Amino acid sequence: MDHQKIEAIKNIVSTGSVLTDESDRYSYSFDASFGTYLPDVVIQTKEVEELAELVKYANKEKIPLYPRGQSTSLSGGPLPVKGGIVIDLSVMNNVLVVDEEDLVIVVSPGVLTSEIHKAAEQKGLMYPPDPSSSHVSTIGGNLAENSGGPRGLKYGVTKDYVIGLEVITPEGEIIRTGGRTVKNVTGYDLTKLIVGSEGTLGIITKAILRLIPKPPASETVMVIFNSLVDAGGAISKILSSGILPAKMELMDQASIIAVENYEPSNLPRDAEAIILIELDGHPAAVKDEIDKVAMLCESVGAREVRIPETEKEKAEVWKARKLVSPAIVQIKPTKISEDATVPRSQIPEMCRRLQQIKEKYNLHLVVFGHAGDGNLHPNIIADKSDREEMERVELAVAEIFEAAVELGGTLSGEHGIGTMKAPFMEMELGVVGLDMMKRIKQAWDPNNIMNPGKIFPEKGQKLVLK
Ligand SMILES: Cc1cc2nc3c(=O)[nH]c(=O)nc-3n(C[C@H](O)[C@H](O)[C@H](O)COP(=O)(O)OP(=O)(O)OC[C@H]3O[C@@H](n4cnc5c(N)ncnc54)[C@H](O)[C@@H]3O)c2cc1C
Repeated sequence: MDHQKIEAIKNIVSTGSVLTDESDRYSYSFDASFGTYLPDVVIQTKEVEELAELVKYANKEKIPLYPRGQSTSLSGGPLPVKGGIVIDLSVMNNVLVVDEEDLVIVVSPGVLTSEIHKAAEQKGLMYPPDPSSSHVSTIGGNLAENSGGPRGLKYGVTKDYVIGLEVITPEGEIIRTGGRTVKNVTGYDLTKLIVGSEGTLGIITKAILRLIPKPPASETVMVIFNSLVDAGGAISKILSSGILPAKMELMDQASIIAVENYEPSNLPRDAEAIILIELDGHPAAVKDEIDKVAMLCESVGAREVRIPETEKEKAEVWKARKLVSPAIVQIKPTKISEDATVPRSQIPEMCRRLQQIKEKYNLHLVVFGHAGDGNLHPNIIADKSDREEMERVELAVAEIFEAAVELGGTLSGEHGIGTMKAPFMEMELGVVGLDMMKRIKQAWDPNNIMNPGKIFPEKGQKLVLK
């Protein structure tokens, strides 16, 4: 970017920072997926009006803009793939206000999701969306990716709790969508259009989120299986029994062994799968449901049902699940984290297909995740310096997407499309479906400055992991 433009940006961002040194910009060149792309400039400001002025300037000069939270995206979302300006929104974290009467929380985009959980719980309330990255990801990133987590099974995902937004459009206007009311059907639902748009339709500068009362009791069950497919069967059986757990998470044998090698957690190494279940609600109902879940799992071949009694024991069980991500990268350094999702009835079939893909390509494919809502997380563990292995990974990833779509599912349940899944969009949406999305993007962002190179495949684009 030429000197004149950098000076103009510095004049606009007068209360914030404009980072131009290569060493500063380097920290903004990657996320938790693949590829390194150096931005020309990084800006930080807490002032919405100042940011809107910058967007107007970028739109006039056709400079690409990349909104960025904490860069934990697993799909390439915040990567500055076409150069231009990265907007570091993690610094915009000054608003966090709980309104107990309206049952809402108003937040700036840079607030960490775990801070929202804490603020709600201090008032006996709950903000249900709970991505595993909640301690390190921002609510702005969660909104842009429509993030979910284990509690998505019972409580839904980020979009189900957003009732109002403040957004800077790609032409630099500040708009407010929705509001503080639970009901609102005035015109098109622009709030829901922005949520999950991955920073391609505007910059979220404020959000009004719905809160609910915190359930009074919760219990945990760990169920151990000798067969992964039986575990898939148990998940379907529980979900069709009339019981709706708050969480239902799956760990396959590879993830069990990885966790035991990393930090021994009393998990059975010889089991092919474990399901971790959390039930919440009225204490008497929770107790009754625990017994029913145990019986159902035993009826489909569970080897053992463990019910931790103390809060400490329960926390240890959930800690083991959280350890999967750091544990599996001890096997090999490169983790390709997919989140293809299938309808619940297809969970056993998806487990079977994943096993076939693992054998066909002879890869370390680890399956864990939010199995209760069909959002299995097949993770391939590889070494990106081994080109031959990475070619097998690319083929396996394509087959995982094909399997999910063929079974009536989707490319992504929560991690978003970004750069990683763009080449597969047409497979799920069809030519016309994808074209309708392109037309929405064109109407909002005629100069294609807002997070270009994301969601929509470029001509002939293929998945390349390097
Ligand atoms: C260990 C680990 C565990 C994870 N677990 C989960 C999980 O359980 N569930 C889940 O859904 N995801 C999970 N993720 C993925 C990731 O944490 C989420 O996508 C998260 O929402 C990203 O937040 P972020 O602040 O890091 O955003 P970034 O990665 O910085 O950005 C993500 C996207 O949001 C856009 N964006 C960011 N802020 C704004 C804004 N204010 N306005 C407009 N666009 C914006 C960016 O342009 C980009 O497209 C996990 C990631 C890791 C590394």
